[in-house]
Amino acid sequence: MRIARFEKGGIESYGIIEKSEIIEISGSIFDENVRLAGSRHDLNGCKLLSPCSPTKIVCVGLNYTRHAEELKLQKPEEPVIFIKPSTSVIGPGENIVYPGTCRQLDYEAELALVVKKTAKNVARDRVNDYILGYTCFNDVTARDLQKKDGQWTRAKSFDTFSPIGPYVETDVNPKNITVEAYLNGQKKQSGNTRDMIFDAFYLLCFVSSVMTLLPGDVIATGTPEGVGPMKTGDSIEIRVEGIGSLINKVVV
Ligand code: MG
Repeated sequence: MRIARFEKGGIESYGIIEKSEIIEISGSIFDENVRLAGSRHDLNGCKLLSPCSPTKIVCVGLNYTRHAEELKLQKPEEPVIFIKPSTSVIGPGENIVYPGTCRQLDYEAELALVVKKTAKNVARDRVNDYILGYTCFNDVTARDLQKKDGQWTRAKSFDTFSPIGPYVETDVNPKNITVEAYLNGQKKQSGNTRDMIFDAFYLLCFVSSVMTLLPGDVIATGTPEGVGPMKTGDSIEIRVEGIGSLINKVVV
């Protein structure tokens, strides 16, 4: 099932994507059983928004061995986590704004997990109860500021630095899928989630042992090797197998 958030005629709604249509949902996407409202919209006449509205995005740094190597950093013994603010979220087709204080703006293709219900100290055998589904994520990073500051908050938190979408796919096996980045149509990153140091299920348990996760919160599971810079005017596409494609443009 593909869950989208969309806007039509100035009204925001959630819906399920079926072929070229969106079927509106009544009630919440976080309910145990999603209820359909009945009205159908042509996908072409709807603007897709970020598919969820997280209170926080918990990201994992260095979760693929070869990415840690390319940054010349040690492979971590425990997940290295950081938070991107809710205000950095944009949806598919929205613009990434290149900050004036940044000299190197990088893309990072990632698989993102969307939380279904309030999660605290989740046990490994219960993780599926807490996952709504998965989507594509671009962990946009001001790489020069990340190196300069030594900690990552500024470099990761500018407005527009968290493109999410295009929708949440509920039927995905997160343990063996391809995660790719295409810059202006050219493939720049291609990894497989089987090469993660900590898998998505482990990350949900780990993060929930630290902080309470709320419905719609996002865990971004880290990027494979091949990160690189974007320029103004570039189009960046994050493609995750079995989910879809998230495309954004870089503007000043
Ligand atoms: Mg990242």
